Amino acid sequence: MSETIIIAGAGHAAGQVTVSLRQGGFAGKIIMVGEEPYLPYQRPPLSKKYLAGELELDRLLIRKQKFYDEHDIDVRLATRVEEIDRSNRSVTLSTGEKLGYDRLVIATGSHVRKVDLPGVGLAGVHYLRTIDDVRTMQPDFQPGKNLIVIGAGYIGLEVAAVAVTRGMNVTVREMADRVMNRVVCPEVSAFFEKVHREAGVDIRCNRNPNSELLGDGHVEALRAADGQEFPADLVCIGVGVLPTTDIAAAAGLDCDDGVLVDECCHTSDPRILAVGDCTNHPNSLLGRRLRLESVHNAQEQAKTAAATICGHLKPYAQIPWFWSDQYDLKLQIVGLAGTHDQVVLRGNPDDRSFAAFYMEGDRLIAVDAINRAREFMLSKKLIAQGARLDAEILADESIEFKDLATAALD
Ligand SMILES: Cc1cc2nc3c(=O)[nH]c(=O)nc-3n(C[C@H](O)[C@H](O)[C@H](O)COP(=O)(O)OP(=O)(O)OC[C@H]3O[C@@H](n4cnc5c(N)ncnc54)[C@H](O)[C@@H]3O)c2cc1C
Repeated sequence: MSETIIIAGAGHAAGQVTVSLRQGGFAGKIIMVGEEPYLPYQRPPLSKKYLAGELELDRLLIRKQKFYDEHDIDVRLATRVEEIDRSNRSVTLSTGEKLGYDRLVIATGSHVRKVDLPGVGLAGVHYLRTIDDVRTMQPDFQPGKNLIVIGAGYIGLEVAAVAVTRGMNVTVREMADRVMNRVVCPEVSAFFEKVHREAGVDIRCNRNPNSELLGDGHVEALRAADGQEFPADLVCIGVGVLPTTDIAAAAGLDCDDGVLVDECCHTSDPRILAVGDCTNHPNSLLGRRLRLESVHNAQEQAKTAAATICGHLKPYAQIPWFWSDQYDLKLQIVGLAGTHDQVVLRGNPDDRSFAAFYMEGDRLIAVDAINRAREFMLSKKLIAQGARLDAEILADESIEFKDLATAALD
């Protein structure tokens, strides 16, 4: 008897599960249920080329409809999985339909963290997570208009970069004392702040978050906690995301800052797997549990879950990596900083091409590479292998990085 797999969610991870299941030889029934009206698509361009109007919607799709037709994948869009009934192994959809499963994959991703500011419901105030969010933003995303970005994380800064390049007046307000403080070291924050200021973005850190949005129907201004007012035609809020665990938690699956899974993507119910942003998973290379919000994690966990279902186990063991595009700068981050005791810079930020190496003793644990693809690629291997490096030599640009890496890996 052939098995039925239901996938709850139709985002990046879900799309990859369908691809990897068929590649892995799974011949049973696959039903993918997603609440958005779009086939699985890439979200990164939403704050980059798609927002800039440089990419057609079609190019966002991970696979076209033809792929799902040819591989006999039943895709239900604009439909939610409302409830999981574990004892009967079935799900109830928002259409009222009940579907039975042999295995269920939860790929519900994450959702934006909302802020509770007066006026946040006014037209022109947006969060950025979906294609529809960009589409509602676009009419106001025009040269000469005033944009206020709340939150200087990578999404807020990418939006600021696209907007100022388009000729908008952009202010970024951040509560912390520096931009991207969750993901990069102070040296890299300082570099990005300088680049944005030079491009014309008014970056304001250390801001009291208790501001107020003013307007009559549509946003017109932001009044800061100190009473100062800033004109606004458009406000974009980017203050992080939360894992979407509602249906998993309601079904009694173990959740703790994400749906808890093992290295093969099993949840606390052996018939249910979970993948992507919604999971909290173990990482044997790093020796700890993690919740990640990245395309790399969504793809790799999806491959692991599909392998688990196909019966050839491929435990998840990856060094996390991530990227952000701002202006002509590609920031690539690999590894996890936090336990480092030293940051070594290689290259000069003034050249718009350098890397920050995070060292724990003589062990490399993470790298922020700015327009340094080679350092980024080789560092993935160095970190995975626990390579030990001499900080002084690392900073010495007269020694080729590939020679340094080869020596460390030998
Ligand atoms: C603007 C933006 C820029 C980004 N840039 C980068 C980047 O540069 N690099 C990078 O690595 N990552 C980036 N990311 C993060 C990356 O896109 C996510 O990590 C990735 O999309 C996670 O994939 P996922 O499938 O786990 O979740 P998602 O892509 O969030 O997909 C989950 C889907 O499930 C749906 N869903 C939820 N609950 C249900 C339910 N009950 N029933 C049916 N459907 C449901 C949701 O509506 C959603 O469509 C960016 C994200 C955004 C929003």
